[in-house]
Amino acid sequence: SLFAQSTPEARGLGMTSQRARDRLIDRLEAEGIRDRRVLDVLRRLPRHLFIEEALSSRAYEDTALPIGKGQTISQPWVVARMTEALIEFSVPQRVLEVGTGSGYQAAVLAALVERVYTVERIEELLRQARRRFRKVGIENLRSKHADGKLGWPEEAPFDAIIVTAAGAQIEHALLDQLAPHGVLVAPIGPPGEQQLLRVRPGENGRISEFLGKVSFVPLLGGVS
Ligand code: SAM
Repeated sequence: SLFAQSTPEARGLGMTSQRARDRLIDRLEAEGIRDRRVLDVLRRLPRHLFIEEALSSRAYEDTALPIGKGQTISQPWVVARMTEALIEFSVPQRVLEVGTGSGYQAAVLAALVERVYTVERIEELLRQARRRFRKVGIENLRSKHADGKLGWPEEAPFDAIIVTAAGAQIEHALLDQLAPHGVLVAPIGPPGEQQLLRVRPGENGRISEFLGKVSFVPLLGGVS
């Protein structure tokens, strides 16, 4: 099965990729990730299938890795933290992701929620991500090649929106497509000064809160 495949690093250490993932989960817990649902998904999902084979020996390090076109697969801790923040108060049914990248974050979400919509502006990255979704058997996900700053108006409203590239502010189009009870998580700010921002419903309208420092590639406009 996919889940029994070993990585070169894991083979060298006499470990299966499951052992490598178990170690990563121990580390994420030690670094403050608490949500069992999130930890369980990361324990099961083969991250090495979301990067090129030459890098697969590093798949279970807690680090971002290049995926081509100047982009990265996010650090597992960041994926875990953003997912945890998104589902903390209730598990959303319909989630929009801006920035498919490798597809890993979308795959994590697909294991937790009813339906995932993910948008990527670089066609080649999206093509690769789609192959991976098929390979790991994800069926409750739709993806499109477009500028995610515009959201996915035809499928709105969303119960949750996650942005995986950093902008100067939250795009209005995205807030417009968020359901009244919806939660949005996005990195905001210039390189070196980014914060993870969460917007969620409060008693008198939406509450914004900063969840800590992060480091993301920039949210760009248009498609390529
Ligand atoms: N969620 C991804 C993962 O799990 O691999 C993270 C990928 S990377 C940190 C961010 C991605 O956002 C890149 O693939 C980049 O091309 C994409 N991106 C940047 N601006 C975008 C936009 N306006 N619309 C859609 N995707 C965008």
